[in-house]
Amino acid sequence: MKHILLALSLIVLISCGTSKSGSQNGTTSANGENFNPIKTNPTEYNVKDAEDLKYMKDYAKEYAESITEDKLKRMLYTLASDDYEGRKTGEKGQKMAAEFIVDFYTKLGIPPADTTYLQHIPVDYFKGRSKNDSENVVAFIKGFEKPEEYVIISAHYDHIGVKGEEINNGADDDGSGTTAVMQIAQAFKKATDAGMAPKRSIVFLHVTGEEVGLFGSKYYTEHPIFPLDNTVANLNIDMIGRYDEKHAENPEFVYLIGSDKLSTELHELSEATNKKYTNLELDYTYNDENDPNRFYYRSDHYNFAKNNIPIIFYFNGVHEDYHKPTDTPDKINYDLLQKRAQLVFYTAWEIANRENRLTVDKK
Ligand SMILES: [Zn+2]
Repeated sequence: MKHILLALSLIVLISCGTSKSGSQNGTTSANGENFNPIKTNPTEYNVKDAEDLKYMKDYAKEYAESITEDKLKRMLYTLASDDYEGRKTGEKGQKMAAEFIVDFYTKLGIPPADTTYLQHIPVDYFKGRSKNDSENVVAFIKGFEKPEEYVIISAHYDHIGVKGEEINNGADDDGSGTTAVMQIAQAFKKATDAGMAPKRSIVFLHVTGEEVGLFGSKYYTEHPIFPLDNTVANLNIDMIGRYDEKHAENPEFVYLIGSDKLSTELHELSEATNKKYTNLELDYTYNDENDPNRFYYRSDHYNFAKNNIPIIFYFNGVHEDYHKPTDTPDKINYDLLQKRAQLVFYTAWEIANRENRLTVDKK
């Protein structure tokens, strides 16, 4: 009896909603949950007023929620296991990690950025810092409206390998960023499959050679698969699964570096996105030009920034297991990793879907 009543009231609700706004363009319904009329993009709807907007489902939220602790954990326990031998550039473990990432994209049906997923980097390029050739792994989701503009989401997947008898698993550095990029990619893929492809293209860039001198990102920016002139932004993740001493009391934070350096608009967008969805404390300590750590210059995003491409670097600070064999997957805070990965997803979603391309107003 209860169920029948509920069903009846739902019908009434829906028909009211339809007669109210459906006559305008047939794309709104009484409640957001039922809003799924045709496979197309929300921006194509002729949204007439705030009343209509209210009925529209928050698609970003729906897809962000497909990034979960569980999935991140499962992947990170593999990537940061002893089998991968600390993923040292040019060595067996790094090649295995590349294979793991390629396999993930292949199974999900997210295509390579080029003819293959692997961007090959010859051994000479590493100036003696790698014994062998190495490779970036690059996947791609094509934008539906401005496919020639690109948002790059990056993380390095190499680490420092085995020292003596001990394996440096690099769970936080940068297994956390690597799995985050992969999960962000699956969220965009889900959106695309549902007819909600981003307006601009998204590039998922897993760089090698970071630990030996930012070589993978340097190589990509010197041999870009997509023109740098059309690269709208780079969101780079390096260590987002832990917290530092300063935030032990309130770990719901992330350090942001570089967001305001080239584009005021990017900084404002990033702030607003966090406020709307994730509500993490955004700590700008390391964004200070006078900070002695100079983190702005120390990870892969810098190779984009120096080409005048606005960047944000997401980082959890240095902790006691940094570059030690004790940087293991059991020490990762998966709820934090999930939240921060979702923040990067929301920010990328906003950059990719907004009407105008991000404005660069600083040098
Ligand atoms: Zn790192």
